[in-house]
Amino acid sequence: MKGRIFSGMRPTGKLHIGHLSVLNDWVKLQDEYKCFFGIVDWHAMTTAFDSPQSVKENIMEMAIDWLSAGIDPAKSAIFIQSQVKEHGELHLLFSMIVPLSWLERVPTYKDQVRQFKKEGKDIATYGFLGYPLLMAADILIYRADTVPVGVDQLPHIELCREVARRFNYLYQVSLFPEPQAKLSQAAVLPGTDGRKMSKSYGNHIAIDADPQEVTAKVRQMVTDPARIRKNDPGHPEVCVVYTYHRFYSPQKYEEIGSSCRQGQVGCVDCKKLLISRLNEVLAPIREKRQKLIEKPDEVMDILREGQKKAAQEAAETISLVRKAMFLDHF
Ligand code: SF4
Repeated sequence: MKGRIFSGMRPTGKLHIGHLSVLNDWVKLQDEYKCFFGIVDWHAMTTAFDSPQSVKENIMEMAIDWLSAGIDPAKSAIFIQSQVKEHGELHLLFSMIVPLSWLERVPTYKDQVRQFKKEGKDIATYGFLGYPLLMAADILIYRADTVPVGVDQLPHIELCREVARRFNYLYQVSLFPEPQAKLSQAAVLPGTDGRKMSKSYGNHIAIDADPQEVTAKVRQMVTDPARIRKNDPGHPEVCVVYTYHRFYSPQKYEEIGSSCRQGQVGCVDCKKLLISRLNEVLAPIREKRQKLIEKPDEVMDILREGQKKAAQEAAETISLVRKAMFLDHF
């Protein structure tokens, strides 16, 4: 029997090519696993509770990006989290059995509250504290055994495993698997300035960037500061462009590195090569995106179908949960 995967993204803004690496992983996983991919709008609301309209708009954008990148509704359930209410019920029931200290010790919690406070926003809410528990509910409502994640999310998966264990122990069932983290094979791409890629830093390249935008962003990329003249020997390992070539020009990667070290290639030409590689990758996505933008009803139908598939699985789990907790009154 196929394993099960749940994964999701928060619809908080336009996707960038850093997300594209994650989506490429998902595309491959679709053939090996039964996949549930959720646009997790409730998670987005934990920080965007004061601008819910933007969350709604971003959902459509995100669905289009996913489909354009190759997520296939014939293989996977693609849905909006808030439209499968069982996520919320399971989150509530888990909140009865999970000690507060488990949530307070999640390493990212305090950092994020502090970070948002600096930006003038108070997210020290009940909902934000419960974010990792909602994530556990998202995963366990599908009894997923595998969760593709980045290293920074490992503590969330550990919490999810603890919740599954506690539920099974308290109610003497073996309802929930303890999901395993599947570490993403995707390269973590830095932003054009070498920092973490983020829309708020303006150092990202959007998935739907047109050729002019791609050119402008690659031109901004930080290279080896020690290279003044074209034939100065370079240090590609400190260069953002080189990191991108590793991912986008794997066949030429070694050659580019050695030409750079020997001062045989200039940064302008090296950047031109990257621009053309990026455009090759983004062109079919742009084309597909354009077609989907013209057919919003089709995209909505895909999300509706995905919701049906997901809700069917979620309803089965929640009825077993209710039974285990003696809540199956009717
Ligand atoms: S030649 Fe290429 S790899 Fe070397 S520093 Fe310039 S942009 Fe970076």
